[in-house]
Amino acid sequence: MTRSLADIVAGLGTGIRIDGRWRDAASGGTFDVENPATGEIIATPADGGAADAAAAIDSAAAHQRGWAATPARDRAEILRRAYELLTERADEVALLMTSEMGKPLAEARGEVAYGAEFFRWFAEEAPRIRGDARRSPDGASRFIVTQEPVGPCILITPWNFPLAMISRKIGPAIAAGCTMVYKPARLTPLTSLYVVDLLTEAGLPDGVLSVVTTSSAGSVVGPWIESGKARKLSFTGSTEVGKSLLEQCARGVLRTSMELGGNAPFIVCRDADMDVALDAVMAAKMRNMGEACTSANRILVHRSVLDDFAGRLTQRMTNLTVGDGAAEGTDVGPLVEAAAVDKVDELVTDAVDRGAHVLCGGARPDGPGHFYPPTVLADVPRDARVMETEIFGPVAALIPFDDDDEAVRLANDTEFGLVSYVMTESVDRGFAIAEQLEAGMVGFNTGLVSNPAAPFGGIKQSGLGREGGPTGIEEFLETKYVSIPVR
Ligand code: NAP
Repeated sequence: MTRSLADIVAGLGTGIRIDGRWRDAASGGTFDVENPATGEIIATPADGGAADAAAAIDSAAAHQRGWAATPARDRAEILRRAYELLTERADEVALLMTSEMGKPLAEARGEVAYGAEFFRWFAEEAPRIRGDARRSPDGASRFIVTQEPVGPCILITPWNFPLAMISRKIGPAIAAGCTMVYKPARLTPLTSLYVVDLLTEAGLPDGVLSVVTTSSAGSVVGPWIESGKARKLSFTGSTEVGKSLLEQCARGVLRTSMELGGNAPFIVCRDADMDVALDAVMAAKMRNMGEACTSANRILVHRSVLDDFAGRLTQRMTNLTVGDGAAEGTDVGPLVEAAAVDKVDELVTDAVDRGAHVLCGGARPDGPGHFYPPTVLADVPRDARVMETEIFGPVAALIPFDDDDEAVRLANDTEFGLVSYVMTESVDRGFAIAEQLEAGMVGFNTGLVSNPAAPFGGIKQSGLGREGGPTGIEEFLETKYVSIPVR
């Protein structure tokens, strides 16, 4: 039976976890975690700072050598057990996640399945870390090439996928044999604390993963980067913060993985199957209330099918039920905080001021809760701010185009390059467009590209590196080569 939210929160390890022990912040401070549907404070985790950060990174450095020596099979078994525990407890993890982040329970359950899968995938990768042995071309040396853990890693995650964003990092780090210091998002730390407890139960040794919750990210992450003890930083979040972290990491030449912002174009060609395109755009736009880096931000529709597409999309958006994500039957939960509603409202107002037409939604309701209605905007002008800004809300912005070249030009007219979508019944046209799209991922007749077995990541200012897939573990490995003369 699923426990109540109060019981789940009461059972959580609280505070900061270092070296296998929960402790209060050195300052003694705490901060509030709010339920965005109700405004209720549901927990008050420890508010860590520089002293806590120093203790955490010292622990990670002290345990690195021993952890790296743990057999790969043992590390794999911990991940496999964590996958099983998460799967068994999907309902209560989902309830906790919905309560701090807002997404509907059905979506939260989907995220638990997706997030747990990273543990299973990397459990299978751990024993398969490979090396190489061969003779030099001149025959004078033997080359032995091994893959070693990169060393203590700093992990930083955003609030929008409180489980999957961290299992996508912890999974490969454990598989590779890296120790970790982790700072979850201020708005959604509870799911992370749950996962840390669960990993301990799955057998993760003390000191391998330390967690510092905080309301002041820089006061924890800055000291970690400057400590000289971390060898890698893996970040998921906005491009703005990612750039600043890259600069900081450059000073100590830390390895980095950067999963940053997006501005996804969604192209509906004139020969698209309308039902496929509508299913796909609903998935790409409305997953997570539009609060996803993969969210369809600019929906480019061939002028000949625009009226049909806009009418049917408006119908689907109008049919969605908005409410508390914890209530069964809710399709669209609240946005994560009041500032998120302000931002979406400003973007819609800007587009309308410049000539866009509201087909549905477009007006923020009164509180309580941080709700914004599903909204469709037609005739969005090309100078509207939504064209270059991540909306991060349930707003579909429709922009007409007249031929494939124009669609590709518009799609690529952004500094971002995370994901693009193309809808067409023609395989030739779809491939031709996909080849020209400047993005790390392309959804061809689908609005969902995330899969633990596939390489997730962006180009341009959407990031560096890939998470998941066969190459995901390489982000946490260093190559070492030993040269042995042939005598
Ligand atoms: P954010 O503001 O960049 O925050 C991300 C993380 O960085 C949070 O843990 C945050 O802590 C921390 N942070 C903020 N300022 C920092 C600083 N000065 N030093 C060190 N850490 C700092 O992003 P967000 O609003 O949480 O998430 C939304 C963004 O993430 C969007 O741009 C979205 O596209 C992107 N995203 C990308 C992917 C991907 O895979 N490419 C996936 C999901 C989200 P606090 O929570 O305490 O502020």
